[in-house]
Amino acid sequence: MALIVQKYGGSSVADAEKIKSVARRIVETKEGGNEVVVVVSAMGDTTDELIQLARQVNPKPQERELDVLLSTGEIVSSTILAMALHNLGYKAVSLSGAQAGIETDAIYSKARILRLEPKRVIEELEKGNIVIVAGFQGITKGMDITTLGRGGSDTTAVALAATLKAQICQIYTDVEGVFTADPRLVPEARKLKEIGYEEMLELATLGAKVMHSRAVELGEVYNMPILVASSFSDKSGTIIHGGIMMEVRNKVRGIAHDLNVAKVTVVGVPDQPGIASAIFEPLVKANISVDTIVQNASINNITDLTFTVARGDLDNAMSLVQPIAKSIGARKCVSDSTLAKVSIIGTGMQNTPGYAANMFRTLYEQGINIQLITTSEIRITCIVGEDRVEDAVKALHKAFELERDVI
Ligand code: ASP
Ligand code: MG
Repeated sequence: MALIVQKYGGSSVADAEKIKSVARRIVETKEGGNEVVVVVSAMGDTTDELIQLARQVNPKPQERELDVLLSTGEIVSSTILAMALHNLGYKAVSLSGAQAGIETDAIYSKARILRLEPKRVIEELEKGNIVIVAGFQGITKGMDITTLGRGGSDTTAVALAATLKAQICQIYTDVEGVFTADPRLVPEARKLKEIGYEEMLELATLGAKVMHSRAVELGEVYNMPILVASSFSDKSGTIIHGGIMMEVRNKVRGIAHDLNVAKVTVVGVPDQPGIASAIFEPLVKANISVDTIVQNASINNITDLTFTVARGDLDNAMSLVQPIAKSIGARKCVSDSTLAKVSIIGTGMQNTPGYAANMFRTLYEQGINIQLITTSEIRITCIVGEDRVEDAVKALHKAFELERDVI
């Protein structure tokens, strides 16, 4: 008997009718002769509503309390789903993250899984149960409830699939799979049949909000195939897996964009050892992840240092960096939160000349100014004004002929 882990996102379990239809899909998988472990997100916008509720009584709720509160969203959906399965005549049991053996560190609201001891999950499977695990949560060694960060149920699902050595982890959501670009921006965007972990990781990190990037990372480490498909249709989705043929296809797989970008520039920094570390270490301590970092070549031993953070982290980042900038003798510290990132992604681009040039030419032809450029082995990213990102994505999708299925 194969074990399958399925995850259903918030919009797939948004109300009682949808939960009943998810229950029927789970039953089909079970009747196909499989053992099934299901991970659920909170119903619809529950998590946002709970955050709103907390803020109504306290603008800065304590993180520990907030995590316990948010974890309840998934408890609700998991129990309701178990009840729906009972009503169809199936054995099912809901478990919280803690009961499922998910141990995390104590970084509230972005906790990482340290260990997974799925003893209880296995026992319940052995009793013939469909096991429903509340996503997005775990428990610290000190028995405090934590959450894994927004969208974290994907990570719960892949972690469980890897630990239980499932055949596949299926992520059911409100989109049909992974597309060559956001179909809301580019109507010609195409659904990919398959994509490699690395490429998916870049897409997920760079704003294609199909999946939590940490889930893709875990999938890669454990070589767990992940299916992304719609919970509302039976259309085949996208398989994320390793070992994709690299040479024979179009090397740009997708265009990602992200509006959640803010830029900080420390102007007039003395060019001497220790400056970058003085600026970035406090950011790390404050758990602010810094993305693109650019330091200019210095003129007369004075340079500028620019980096980007998520918009939500900008105020924090500025309040940390401003005093440091002052103490190291920088001229000033400025920020801009009206930026966006646009990236082309594909394995093998690095070894083929012309991709970067084509990207820059395409943006130039649209009259789009590039503010910062970064690259990795499999991606080229430009930071542009947020008001031009839509044009950029459309033009790049066309320039790299992504509407054509290249076999
Ligand atoms: N309910 C949480 C959120 O909305 C986790 C998840 O959906 O995966 O972010
Ligand atoms: Mg959600």
